[in-house]
Amino acid sequence: MIDVNRKGEVWVFAEQHGGRLEDTPVELLSKARHLADTLGVKLAAVLLGEEVKELPVRLIQYGCDKVYLVQNPLLACYQTNSYAKVILGLIHKHKPQIVLYGATIAGRDLAPRIASAAKAGLTADCTDLQIGDHESNGQIHNNLLFQIRPAFGGNIIATIINYDRWPQMATVREGVMPVPKPDVNRRGEIIEESALLSDTDLPIEILKEHKQPKKVNLKAARVIVAGGAGVGSKDNFKLIWDLANCLGAAPAATRAAVDLGFIDGDHQVGQTGVTVRPSLYIAVGISGAIQHQSGMSQSQKIIAINNDPNAPIFHIAHYKILGDLNTVIPVMIKAIKEKSIK
Ligand code: FAD
Repeated sequence: MIDVNRKGEVWVFAEQHGGRLEDTPVELLSKARHLADTLGVKLAAVLLGEEVKELPVRLIQYGCDKVYLVQNPLLACYQTNSYAKVILGLIHKHKPQIVLYGATIAGRDLAPRIASAAKAGLTADCTDLQIGDHESNGQIHNNLLFQIRPAFGGNIIATIINYDRWPQMATVREGVMPVPKPDVNRRGEIIEESALLSDTDLPIEILKEHKQPKKVNLKAARVIVAGGAGVGSKDNFKLIWDLANCLGAAPAATRAAVDLGFIDGDHQVGQTGVTVRPSLYIAVGISGAIQHQSGMSQSQKIIAINNDPNAPIFHIAHYKILGDLNTVIPVMIKAIKEKSIK
């Protein structure tokens, strides 16, 4: 645990694999920049790897004031022990007040290890972060990190604070924050740090890495057609694929549809799936549970097709189509095809 350090920086763990920055820490930089500006402190990225020399400049262009760069062959591949040891050393040396991680596979593994070793707090899977004051037993704690996330199955939004176990740490879900625009004229400081590591810090010898690419990039899709349990069967889910194909859209689904085997899990939108913000989201046979809404409610326009007038999805839809999807979708496909022929 480090002392409460009001002048401490805001840090983001700049996760990279094979010299490619992960999307989530980049998304995080837009919010982290805002937090650092509100606190009047510097924003720094912590970048570990083997040969990642081009990345610090990109991180600065995305809004960092500083990059702590640790390059070492033993950091070539992510491993819990080695990465946790290096970051913990940097935390003790520089005493940041906030450290943020993407809620990626590596981030979800690394952050708890560091929190436990640093005896600091950690909130997992935040969907928002704010700076605010908190009163406890008549004492006011100013400028704390409000770590905001759905709780109790998404039925409430909890704000979690940590006023004495610093650094304040959180992992943040992918896709909930917009990617900042890079500014090629931005200048910052690159601070090279060394890693005191030996082979004993690496309990696993990685012989070969194989990364299964995701089948779909929902976050990049401008139009999404999502199907729910109401579609009824895997065969009938072809309607969703057909509508998506004729709109040039990405097919997506609710967890119920994934669990029923209509489509695979890479397509799941929601609290335990992907968070999306497309120009158009067409929700077909989807009730609109809070856990699904938390992944798509920021879509610019939402069309909902449902045969239940009381379906909660209608509360957030901009266009509501009350009817049987088996009738509505073929009519839509026919109309779109006719229009595109003219
Ligand atoms: P249902 O709720 O069963 O809704 C089906 C809808 O289809 C109904 O509104 C019905 O009126 C309509 N319908 C039926 N037939 C027709 C027809 N012929 N024509 C038109 N409409 C029709 N869910 C997610 O989606 N994503 C998540 O990431 C997620 N994470 C979760 C995390 C936790 C911790 C928990 C507890 C739950 C999570 N869920 C998630 C599940 C969520 O609570 C809902 O169960 C799920 O979203 C419901 O999916 P659905 O809308 O497809 O199914």
